Amino acid sequence: MNSATPLGDGTRAVRAGLPAPVKYEPTLPGPVFAAHFHLPGEPTGPYTYGRDSNPTWTLLERAIGELEAPGEPVETVAFASGMAAISGVLFSQLRTGDAVVLPSDGYQALPLLAERLRAWGVEVRTAPTGGDAQLSALAGARLLWIESPSNPGLDVCDIRRLVAAAHAEGALVAVDNTLATPLGQRPLELGADFSVASDTKGTTGHGDLLLGHVTCRDTARAAEVRNWRKVAGAIPGPMEAWLAHRSLATVQLRIDRQCANALALARALAGRPEVSGLRYPGLADDPSYPLATRQMRRYGGVVSFVLPGQDRAERFLEALRLVDDATSFGGVRSSAERRGRWGGDAVPEGFIRFSAGVEDPEDLVADVLRALNETAGTAGTGA
Ligand SMILES: *Cc1c(COP(=O)(O)O)cnc(C)c1O
Repeated sequence: MNSATPLGDGTRAVRAGLPAPVKYEPTLPGPVFAAHFHLPGEPTGPYTYGRDSNPTWTLLERAIGELEAPGEPVETVAFASGMAAISGVLFSQLRTGDAVVLPSDGYQALPLLAERLRAWGVEVRTAPTGGDAQLSALAGARLLWIESPSNPGLDVCDIRRLVAAAHAEGALVAVDNTLATPLGQRPLELGADFSVASDTKGTTGHGDLLLGHVTCRDTARAAEVRNWRKVAGAIPGPMEAWLAHRSLATVQLRIDRQCANALALARALAGRPEVSGLRYPGLADDPSYPLATRQMRRYGGVVSFVLPGQDRAERFLEALRLVDDATSFGGVRSSAERRGRWGGDAVPEGFIRFSAGVEDPEDLVADVLRALNETAGTAGTGA
């Protein structure tokens, strides 16, 4: 795989993490279900106990590493979920008395994490993603946590600029890359110390498993994160790890189609009178577009917009036929939800987060426009 010209994402994806071929063995070996491994004598070697290591994780971790940083020696640690991966970085890197800078508009569980960190004596500062506002909170910080594009507001910050400022302060930088996936953005190339993601979303893309990962260049830091996984026991199941690896083969097909569908949808919504606050980093007049174009390789499959009020938003979601009313994003089937139903995110009542799936774009756009038309004008429910 060390050809002179770098391979394309699709080519890399179908072979990522595969072991050298062995006669009569499958290309991608099946999941290894083992709590412990045969271990006579000294307990050395790669596989000892199932909470420390597992061959199915090893292959998946190699595969993700090849997508995060092609051709580079990086280390990846797979976790049971995105939150387990996020906790793995925060709790392995921060000590009592440290300061951490989180985004104020990031994933909705970050405030819960902030509570835990404060209880451990960590100073938690927050600032919005947009306008690189986290720059103003960096003085003396130990770790900067970036989420770009942010979920669900889809703001983008200048990762290279924030990394330079954070490193000048002696702070480490982690990027939550969930929305972009490794195909949409490579945080390590942009200078970050940790690329972290929930692989529950677009990276695995079928909405049938939870998983997360941390990738970094520094082997000592990777060991700290791996040690946290062992201590917390936040380990992926072999079945999930194997399903994730299998799903990676199609990641470029899925992400490219999701991005194309999101753009088609955003363009169609841009002309609608009842739609306000439309955001998609790939729309040329979106505030995130210039920065996203500089630092991202794909714009992602999530579009957000606001309908006039909770009632209209709910009726719209109900009228959709090809789109599931469900939380999460990045799956092969389009989904959308009224984000305000959760509380927590600072969004208007009619705010819709729309995750474009891999349907045919004409069908998806037609379904959305039909649902908008059918729910126009009629106040109240029962439509
Ligand atoms: C979903 C999500 C997470 C959490 O991932 P889980 O796999 O649900 O634990 C973290 N960050 C972002 C941006 C997410 O969208």
